[in-house]
Amino acid sequence: MRLTSYYMPTLREKPAEAEILSHQLMLRGGMIRKLASGIYSFLPLGYRVVRKVEEIIRQEMNAKGALEVFLPVVQPAELWRETGRWDRFGKELLRFKDRGEREFCLGPTHEEVITDLVRNELRSYRQLPVNLYQIHVKFRDETRPRFGLMRAREFVMKDAYSFDADERGLSRSYQDMYDAYSRIFTRCGLRFTAVEADTGAIGGDVSHEFMVWAETGEDVIVRCCRCGYAANLERAEFQPSKGKWDEGEKPLEKVYTPNMKTVEEVTGFLGVSPSCLIKTLLYQTEKGFVALMVPGDREVNETKVLHLLGVEELELAASVHVEEITGAPVGFAGPVGLKGVKLVADRTLDGMGNVVVGANEEDYHFVNATPGRDFSWDVAGDIVKARPGDRCHRCGTALEFSKGIEVGHIFKLGTKYSEAMGARFLDEKGQERPFVMGCYGIGVTRTAASAIEQSHDDDGIIWPISIAPFQCYLLPTNWERADIRNAAEGLYHRLLERGVEVLLDDRDERAGVKFKDADLIGMPIRVTLGERGIKKGLCEVKLRREERPRDVSIEQAIEEVVSMRDALFKEVAV
Ligand SMILES: [Zn+2]
Repeated sequence: MRLTSYYMPTLREKPAEAEILSHQLMLRGGMIRKLASGIYSFLPLGYRVVRKVEEIIRQEMNAKGALEVFLPVVQPAELWRETGRWDRFGKELLRFKDRGEREFCLGPTHEEVITDLVRNELRSYRQLPVNLYQIHVKFRDETRPRFGLMRAREFVMKDAYSFDADERGLSRSYQDMYDAYSRIFTRCGLRFTAVEADTGAIGGDVSHEFMVWAETGEDVIVRCCRCGYAANLERAEFQPSKGKWDEGEKPLEKVYTPNMKTVEEVTGFLGVSPSCLIKTLLYQTEKGFVALMVPGDREVNETKVLHLLGVEELELAASVHVEEITGAPVGFAGPVGLKGVKLVADRTLDGMGNVVVGANEEDYHFVNATPGRDFSWDVAGDIVKARPGDRCHRCGTALEFSKGIEVGHIFKLGTKYSEAMGARFLDEKGQERPFVMGCYGIGVTRTAASAIEQSHDDDGIIWPISIAPFQCYLLPTNWERADIRNAAEGLYHRLLERGVEVLLDDRDERAGVKFKDADLIGMPIRVTLGERGIKKGLCEVKLRREERPRDVSIEQAIEEVVSMRDALFKEVAV
């Protein structure tokens, strides 16, 4: 491709709207443009990356026997009502009506559509397993779209759905997808890990997220380097530490804590450590109010609470409800004498003693409160977030925390959707049974952006060879000069003949501009034809990720580029 006939509007300055590096570099590199909040257009250079990621995904999905389909973006409300998600999915589901007042949504995921597609036609166990996938646009009306393609509202996703006769079949399909995902992200040139994850709004009981390591990631990966346990923060388990209880039992005492509402204020005032306070937080669920009790130095893990209580909604109670239930303003809730709510304790509370709790009275707390004697609870479990210093629940080694970007998520759905929608098949004995399903997503556009987060320098992107828009940037420093121009044209044609994807910078621009653009858009190999070298029949060949170019004769340049490209592909081979 010649740059003079290409559309690649690069920007010199950092765009004000860009919050993270991938966003900034894709805007500056002329790869994407914002149309509306969280909605982006892909320009030719950016779309080439997307297409390459898609092609790798397609090859690996096909290799596992998955079949590609193409499902509608616009989905009727009736299907979502069958699974109850029309009401439950929340505001991320963009709903609208057609001219006939019929309700629709823009698909944020396709479990309902795919289950509907097979429920009357996939009938026999002999036809199973089946795995259908598509690569398509999704829409989720995020509250706060941000970080460019990382948290966009409209994005490209690969979603696959497997149908099996039983759990064993599902386990095989799941493992197939796990393996395919590992190959896909390796081939995309990414450093990643798979972690245990929560199933969230999709449902099911087992799931893994594929995380790309990146400092800018929104997700926290918790890992044990000894036994290999890995989970995201929502899910991460850890060994409970023993509560403090070494002073002997002291009598419960109410103390005046004027205007002291936060853990820091109260413990600072009383001169005790935050771990000696139990904070009591009131939450509203669809089954009523609950009071969560956790150590003062710990954070509630809402995902764990949802699972422990078997509820779907969990929101901090409004202050008016807190006052109604505790009889005191927010900041003074405590378990002693608290009635009318379910009391839920973190597992570490058992064994604590002489702790500080709210007194359910404005400006008062209790000290020396002891579980069992002064208060108790209805349910106990692990309801707090793991944090640095915590130990692996399997082997006791200190857990490591790092940041990552979720690029893939696989779920064992079981029969959640097939049962809700009456999607059944006939087994060997001629009995009707619901399909056992799995679903498997990859954020395609997010994968492209995460490659940039992981691989860049101060000058721009350093693309992995497999998803780079072009493999080689051919840079004649002065297009006006016939000798340079002719040598460039010759190299260009011969590289194309050898199957190298090459972008020829045939613009009549200063060399400095060309070098800046080449570094910015980050093709893995650069070949430079300059005034100094041309006289000796030399050109410079350089890897984007390396500092120094090497002088190579123009004759040898073709072989050099081809072998560099092949070596780069070997690095990401599976
Ligand atoms: Zn471990």
